[in-house]
Parts: sequence; C-alpha cells; structure tokens
Amino acid sequence: MLTRHLLKQASTCRHFLLNSKTSSAFLTKSILFSSSSSSPESQSPTTTFVDDKVNDQYPTGTSISIDRSTLYNPPEHSHEPTSDSELVKHLKGIIKFRGGPISVAEYMEEVLTNPKFGFYISRDVFGAEGDFITSPEVSQMFGEMVGVWAMCLWEQMGRPKQVNLVELGPGRGTLMADLLRGASKFKSFTESLHVHMVECSPMLQKLQHHNLKCFDEDDNSDGVEKRTISMLAGTPVSWHALLEQVPSGLPSIIIAHEFYDALPVHQFQRASRGWCEKMVDVSEDSMFRFVLSPQPTPAALYLMKRCKWAAPEEMEKLGQIEVCPKAMDLTRTIADRISFDGGGALIIDYGLNGVVSDSLQAIRKHKFVNILDNPGSADLSAYVDFASIRHSAEEVSADISVHGPMTQSQFLGALGINFRVEALLQNCTDEQADSLRTGYWRLVGEGEAPFWEGPDEQVPIGMGTRYLAMAIVNKKQGVPVPFQ
Ligand code: SAH
Repeated sequence: MLTRHLLKQASTCRHFLLNSKTSSAFLTKSILFSSSSSSPESQSPTTTFVDDKVNDQYPTGTSISIDRSTLYNPPEHSHEPTSDSELVKHLKGIIKFRGGPISVAEYMEEVLTNPKFGFYISRDVFGAEGDFITSPEVSQMFGEMVGVWAMCLWEQMGRPKQVNLVELGPGRGTLMADLLRGASKFKSFTESLHVHMVECSPMLQKLQHHNLKCFDEDDNSDGVEKRTISMLAGTPVSWHALLEQVPSGLPSIIIAHEFYDALPVHQFQRASRGWCEKMVDVSEDSMFRFVLSPQPTPAALYLMKRCKWAAPEEMEKLGQIEVCPKAMDLTRTIADRISFDGGGALIIDYGLNGVVSDSLQAIRKHKFVNILDNPGSADLSAYVDFASIRHSAEEVSADISVHGPMTQSQFLGALGINFRVEALLQNCTDEQADSLRTGYWRLVGEGEAPFWEGPDEQVPIGMGTRYLAMAIVNKKQGVPVPFQ
C-alpha cells in the first residue's frame, strides 16, 4: 500500500538526474567486473611474484593470481624519478619499523581509511571527476526504492514512534537524500526517524551534511545537545565513525550499500605446506611487492572459521581465498543490535553467495590499475562473501533471520521500480527521459542496453545481476519485503 502510494507520486525528478552525457560516460565498479560473465577468480590475469624470504620453501614458479585488469598499462621503461607520496612513506615506515611485511588487509585499510592520507579521507572520489560511480549516483530511483524497503520494514515493525535509520558508508549522502526526499510525504514515517550516518571521512561527512540540506540548530543554554536537522524531511541527523557509537535502545533500520566491499580482506594462497597469507613487502628497489608469510598469521583463525562454513568440494577447487574479518565482526555487531533493539539491515553490494577466491582490485579514474601502484590514489575493493555474512549473523542470535541474497534486479523489481520509472517519465524533459532510461537499465539490466543508440564506448551496462541484496531482521518482524 505504502509502496503504491510512493510510486504513484510523480514527484519532480532529482535536481536533476545525471545528464545523459555524464550518466553514460562513467563506469561503475560492477560494470568493470561485468566485462566478463565469469566469476572474479576466473577473470584474473596471473602475476608471478618473487618471495625471497621464503623461496626455499616453495616450488619455483609459484604464482599468485592478482585481480588486476590490463586495461591500464603504465608506460614501459619509464625511469622518471618519482617521489613517494605521504601514504607510501607511511606504509614503507610501518613495514620497516615492524621489521617485516604487512597483511593485504592492513595495506588495504591504510590505503582507504588512514586518517591523514586515506583514499576516502580527503576528497570526493565519486562520479564524473572521481574514480568510480555507484548506484545512488546513477539514479535517484535507487535511494527511493531503498526508502520503500525501509518504510515497509517500519510497517512490519508496527510503526514504531522512534527509529534509528543508520547508513554505513554513505559516500556523498545521495542515497539518504533520495530516500528522505521520496519518503517526505509519509510524515508518520519520517517523524519517527533519527538518521545516523556512519562515516570515517570528515570531508565526506561535510558533503553529506550539505547534500542532506542540514542545518545546525542554535546552541541553547539548557545544556541540551545541539541538533542537526535535514530539511529534506525534518529529521535529526548525527554522524559517527563507528556503528558502535550509534546510540542503542531504539529499533534500527540499517543500510549498507557498497560498504562491505571497502572492508579490508586478508588473502591466502594454498602452498605445499598449507594456506599461507599473502603479505605486502618492500623490495630492494623500494617497490611494493607481494610475499607469502612464512608462519601462520593471526588471520588464520578467521580462515579456519570460513573454511568450516564451506563445503569441502567448494574449498578443494580453490588455490586462493579471501577472508574479511571486519565484515564478519560488523555483521555480528549488526545482528546483535537487531536482536536486542529490533529492526533490520539491508546489505547491497557486489559479491558471491559463497567463498571468494581472488577479487581484490584497484580502480583509478574509472580504470583498473595495479593494487600496489601509487596507493591512496585508487579505490581498493573486494567481492563481498554473502555466505559468510549469513553465517556470522546466524551465529549471534536465534532471534534474527537472514534473507537472500537476491539479485539487485529482483530486489528493485519486486519493490516496484518499473512503476516508479513510469511515473517519473510522465513528468520530465526528453533529456531527463534518456537519463532515466539509461539509469534504469544500469540498475536492473544485465549486459549492454539493447536500446542504446549513442557511441559504443558509452553504452550503459546493467548491474542488475552483479549486485546482490541481503536482509538481516529481527524475527519479530517476520520476513521482510520483498524476500517473502
Ligand atoms: N554508499 C555510498 C558510498 C560507497 S563508498 C554509495 O553507494 O555511493 C564507501 C563509503 O564508506 C565511503 O563513504 C567511505 O568513506 C566509507 N567508509 C569506508 N570504510 C569505512 C570505515 N571503516 N568506517 C566508516 N566509513 C567507511
């Protein structure tokens, strides 16, 4: 019912829908993946690496598959003197002072979220001028549909008077802005909300504040904390660096879109003596390189756990495996909160419903680059292991249930994106209509858009089956829409 109401509103389109030039010109992470229909492991060109620390323990020619496309090749024989960036100096410093290599996960975490030099910390990396584009940036319909999901869950929760609406890693804040704008007519819903943005980047926090049209209430002398209100729906908004900092005690609706893929992964390689962790070291010529750990590492505990959840046949065929302890721990935190406070979480990301082998990739300015090349200047991300999320959540409590994953195309389709696009098309210019159609295709289509008449290199590529949606809810709420 709510769904239909919302869809019928032919509200004015976002100010406005990416113009068709920009929307079709930029690749998304999933589009880059989708250049092949196979799983990430089978897409990876292999790179031989040198492991001088442990050479004698490995058969010669041991190779590690690294997921990096040759879409970008640095010029050969370039011996230009380059000075290390602050982040490179920092990483080399850690390796030097620790007296040995660091895990791929530690490397990834420093590269993305180092508080001074991290990729996400100081700049806007999204969209045209940035490095990649995400679904909320592709079309306003994405945030609106997530809003429909949130309202349906709120209905199933019995329309609580107060709810924490939490978004993990909100980027520019576009998803939340579209959600609030789309939901603003449903006063009883929006009046119940307190929005919590979990964001590690102070620069992105400011951008989110701006995009949510927030204003900071004047300090009053009663010692009551100053509130920030989004004018999009009159809801209070707060920012936090961690989910744990969001106050508990209220039912929560948690959204994580393209958040899990940014969490650091450990990579393991099967060697003659068993699984060895892949590490990042500095070679004699001062370049980063991969080596294998000679001893078991602490992350091996998570590897063992992950292996227990997998079928032996699944493991036997793998020469490499990625494990994401932060994803497991975050899922436990989410499941814990939902089991105590009620509510649910929606996770949308690209990934697999099973063990991920070798998916870590680096993207700079919409192109694949080497993971170790000029760290901090490219996004690093990895496929999300949805099966591991399911197991992590189910371990926490018998009060929660996990649903999906289903494809983004099924998810958005079942929530009524077709009706929404039709409604928006009733009330827009030709240019906006083109943009809506390409945006719609990108969100729910598969492969190249059949209707495209523009330049080949700009053909919109659907990410409807590459992205998956999963929900974790308190069992009191029943099965969430549209997972029934
Ligand atoms: N959800 C957004 C942005 C995805 S990019 C979208 O779909 O457009 C990942 C986001 O998570 C960025 O906002 C980044 O700054 C944030 N982020 C990454 N790692 C984080 C961490 N460990 N803690 C908090 N935020 C993080």
